[in-house]
Amino acid sequence: MAGYHSPQIEVDVRLNTNESPEPPPPEFTAELTTALADVAWHRYPDRSALGLRTAIGRCHGVGPEQVFAANGSNEVLQTLLLTYGGPARTAAVFEPTYALHSHLSRITSTDVAEGRRGDDFALDLGEVERVLASQRPDITFLCSPNNPTGVVDRPRDVATVLQLVTDIGGVLCVDEAYGQFADHSALDLLGAEVPLVVSRTYSKTWAMAGLRLGYLIGPQWLVEELEKVVLPYHLDATTQIAGTLALAHSEAMDERVARLVQERGRLVAAMAELDVEMWPSGANFVLFRPRSIAGTDVWQALADRSVLVRNCASWPRLDGCLRVTIGTPTEDDRFVAALTEVLT
Ligand SMILES: *Cc1c(COP(=O)(O)O)cnc(C)c1O
Repeated sequence: MAGYHSPQIEVDVRLNTNESPEPPPPEFTAELTTALADVAWHRYPDRSALGLRTAIGRCHGVGPEQVFAANGSNEVLQTLLLTYGGPARTAAVFEPTYALHSHLSRITSTDVAEGRRGDDFALDLGEVERVLASQRPDITFLCSPNNPTGVVDRPRDVATVLQLVTDIGGVLCVDEAYGQFADHSALDLLGAEVPLVVSRTYSKTWAMAGLRLGYLIGPQWLVEELEKVVLPYHLDATTQIAGTLALAHSEAMDERVARLVQERGRLVAAMAELDVEMWPSGANFVLFRPRSIAGTDVWQALADRSVLVRNCASWPRLDGCLRVTIGTPTEDDRFVAALTEVLT
């Protein structure tokens, strides 16, 4: 099988992995430096990461028993698959969507049931019903806002999928890596007896891709199963401390998200002047398809101008598409100037 790769090349403007263009606030970095001086490095970290899980839970109005944290939300998803997937089990995905959902399924020997989203990349409930009824997946993945399309699923559609998943005795995982960019969340559907987990990450809205921390919120019985599967002491002391301290700066996070949303509007307006097709985004990136030049050629021409975007041209149903992350205004101006030069 092919591995999962996001090509990195040395460029001035990196808009290819949906990172935050700004670092977390300097107060956070100072607090972390101070806290690290007190770590008992000769001891294992708190295996249950109770402090961190309590702090995360508080942000969502739940207790630590409903929080599972790991090294990036990818590890969260992998643990979910190790627990509920595996040989003779099935995971459902609706393409186009985040490639890691099917990739991690295959790595854990979980069969993949591939459904299609509609032509506008919104959920097609008839298709969801068909896939769930015929394949009876153990795990169903949704992603909202969806990567790489930016499409936000309608709350009533997510509720309908959850009902279908519940009826077949499966688990629904809604990947909300970009959740803070959307105005609604599947967190509202959580319940003690509801087979729903919602995953989030520090990598995007929290501006901490370098930390490697993600988590899910779900029912206690499900979190207990995940804890049986994950490696002991998987979250190191630094990660636990940094993840806890970061949450005290949620105001800065909210402001950053609001700034990026505003900047996204400016970028989309500039791109609308060019010969590209675009999809409305509820995240910190925009999917677009150049109309007159092949996507891969545009990707190369941008790279030649030291601007790196994500080449999605070979992904399911995304012929010729590229994805650009919202950067700083300066970075976005460089991108628009380069794209204009390439397309005109
Ligand atoms: C970026 C991203 C993740 C994040 O992965 P981490 O391992 O937390 O960095 C998860 N899901 C989606 C849809 C993403 O785009």
